Amino acid sequence: MPTRRSFAGSAPISQSPSHHEELQDFAMHVNFCARCSAELTTRFESGRDRPACPECGYIVYSNPTAVGIVVATRGDKLLLVHRRHPPLAGYWAPPAGHIEFDESIQEGTAREAKEETGFDVSIGRLLNVYSQANTGVVLVVYDGQIIGGDMAADEEEVMEVRFFGRDELPRQPAPTNGTIVERMFFQSIEELFEDFRNR
Ligand SMILES: [Zn+2]
Repeated sequence: MPTRRSFAGSAPISQSPSHHEELQDFAMHVNFCARCSAELTTRFESGRDRPACPECGYIVYSNPTAVGIVVATRGDKLLLVHRRHPPLAGYWAPPAGHIEFDESIQEGTAREAKEETGFDVSIGRLLNVYSQANTGVVLVVYDGQIIGGDMAADEEEVMEVRFFGRDELPRQPAPTNGTIVERMFFQSIEELFEDFRNR
């Protein structure tokens, strides 16, 4: 397993018995306190029942995390990676990844692009935000430009890195039996491909 999380499935997905099960509320599957290891009980807090620690007071909140995606171009070509891991393993997609606590979404998105492809990307304007209940993620899509670096695919994360022209973008089937995250991610890719074709 890679040590970092390049949108290679969030914790709820990787801990579920099957990638193809619908994502459930992560907090409902937590049994022990992350801070003191005591067994959690349930407490009504901030509007709903939440797992809570009777020993130290820790409360388990379950919130979506931000995933940055960059539509990075060089000239009139779009930078894509061939994904190795879920969600959408085997699909072509723009560089994407989970944002760390100590970085802005723009910083994290540029970092992920660098890690996955080797290219330095300047993050431009916000293109779109995809949010859907029970996915555990919010997809934030930025425009971007390649400003340096050399192609160096992160083989842990991606099978290949390649530039595509407007008329070369891959036609990919919708995921069958995909998770709710895969369906949202796929929709975002289809829409940004369509936007790129129409530029
Ligand atoms: Zn505790």
